[in-house]
Amino acid sequence: MSTSGTSSSPTAPSVPTDFIREIVEGDLASGKHHSVVTRFPPEPNGYLHIGHAKSITLNFGIAAQYGGRCHLRFDDTNPAKEDVEYVDSIQEDVRWLGFDWGEHRYFASDYFDQLHQFAVQLIKSGLAYVDDLSPEQIREFRGTPTEPGRPSPFRDRSVAENLDLFERMRKGEFDEGACVLRTKIDMASPNFNLRDPAIYRIKKASHHRTGDKWCIYPMYDFAHSLSDMIEGITHSICTLEFEDHRPLYDWYLDVLKTPSHPQQVEFARLGLTYTVMSKRLLLQLVREGIVSGWDDPRMPTLSGMRRRGYTPQSIRRFCELIGVSKANSVVDFSLLEHCVREDLNARSQRVMAVLRPLKVVITNYPEGQVEEFEAENNPEDPAAGTRKVPFSREIFIEQDDFAENPPPKYFRLSPGKEIRLKHAYYIRCDEVVKDAAGRVTELRCSYDPQSRGGSTPDGRKVLGTSHWVSAPHALDAEVRLYDHLFGVPDPGAADDFKTVLNPGSLEVLDGCKLEPGLAGAVPGSRFQFLRQGYFCTDAGSTGSHPVFNRTVGLKDTWAKIARK
Ligand code: ATP
Ligand code: MG
Repeated sequence: MSTSGTSSSPTAPSVPTDFIREIVEGDLASGKHHSVVTRFPPEPNGYLHIGHAKSITLNFGIAAQYGGRCHLRFDDTNPAKEDVEYVDSIQEDVRWLGFDWGEHRYFASDYFDQLHQFAVQLIKSGLAYVDDLSPEQIREFRGTPTEPGRPSPFRDRSVAENLDLFERMRKGEFDEGACVLRTKIDMASPNFNLRDPAIYRIKKASHHRTGDKWCIYPMYDFAHSLSDMIEGITHSICTLEFEDHRPLYDWYLDVLKTPSHPQQVEFARLGLTYTVMSKRLLLQLVREGIVSGWDDPRMPTLSGMRRRGYTPQSIRRFCELIGVSKANSVVDFSLLEHCVREDLNARSQRVMAVLRPLKVVITNYPEGQVEEFEAENNPEDPAAGTRKVPFSREIFIEQDDFAENPPPKYFRLSPGKEIRLKHAYYIRCDEVVKDAAGRVTELRCSYDPQSRGGSTPDGRKVLGTSHWVSAPHALDAEVRLYDHLFGVPDPGAADDFKTVLNPGSLEVLDGCKLEPGLAGAVPGSRFQFLRQGYFCTDAGSTGSHPVFNRTVGLKDTWAKIARK
């Protein structure tokens, strides 16, 4: 796994080679395939997350790199859990990541007729039977890792009887769970997946696409390998837990003597520290209101990351850096943040924003006077130009940028001391105003008119530089500071993941004071708040109630880890 790469820009065309690309290149070179066809096969039962992004960048990336194509196929074989809301969100997220399936959008349900035909063919070949054992009995008969399974008493039904029963299953004559169609493979196989797996079950549920046409639905492995074949997929790339299913994947294609035989290739799924990625758990977070929705900025979903301000480029860069391997591992969340920061550093406009304001009155600055300072928008990108920032007698600075009794080596403002205001003047603190409770409510300072532009004729040094916002011009805004949703690196290991939630995962600050230029920032706009981090206008932000989300702070903890 390659985890370095701090020096290259996120857009640099670095093409890592991995074992899957080696297989693809080999197959193209040998003439086994003339072009590569991959697919991304989400089940529309939840929103896509960062783990899916790894699979998407791999599948679409390989297709693009070798001039092939990648299908978007919805694995919609379980009507009970699936919904069009998920279909729509998945499409939006894949597009947002920067990938395009063109006209190749498919649904496993498009193939229900064909899959049914294949099942009938298996029955006719004596390779499938209708089993009346209950689900519990089937489990019991399946055996254990050390003991072979036992054949079902219904295993030797005649072809005619099986055809009849399967047809009656299809017609809805039996209740859910009353029977299943199973393949006849090998009840003694050391691989459980081959101990006569079910291929059709009864589900009396309406399907979001086929409505009530079917009350029997194909099982995942059966539907998946045959859907791949029907679409002419050359390389069926999936995660490692399907390695033991590969013999079954191949078995269906072999016994049905299909015209083509895609190759299943497994890779390690992405795990991230401080993150759960199981859709079951993510759904629980949403349903129980622990987060505000699938797109809560603390969610590892692509919609959550988008709302938080992550860029598609940074997520693709992250996927490129983590690479593809056969060994499961957990990636440090700080690597993802590093990629986000690196990309946002290059592209976001700098602005001044005071999150916890402290009022400063500049007593020797003329009342009513306003001047404007020219501020650069992005030191990383001169083409980004400059903007004008208003300055006046009353400004806000960060509460943290003042200490009445400064500790040693304090480089910010304190009584009698002088600091530089970014883009503006030097100010000295003359007086501290407090309320009845002794809290500092205002500072009275004086400025040096000769320090305009950041230095004085006498070359005097100041302690430090603070950002500020002119009080009468400031835009009032809500700012949401996000942290990990979980307080422990491995929340999935907890018996109940709700016990390891991070109580400080969201801090809402009201009455933040922002540069007036931020008024009207459209949702999704990204900024660097000087000295604070990267922020993004929230999807729900409005002109009358602007809201900004902290995407990521400035401190790069990954760089520190990588240097060790
Ligand atoms: P869950 O187990 O939470 O239901 P899933 O893997 O079943 O998730 P799918 O919708 O079936 O979700 O996934 C679509 C594709 O994305 C599959 O090919 C799957 O292997 C891949 N995928 C899912 N999670 C990850 C992950 N963490 N890392 C890499 N690929 C993943
Ligand atoms: Mg799945």
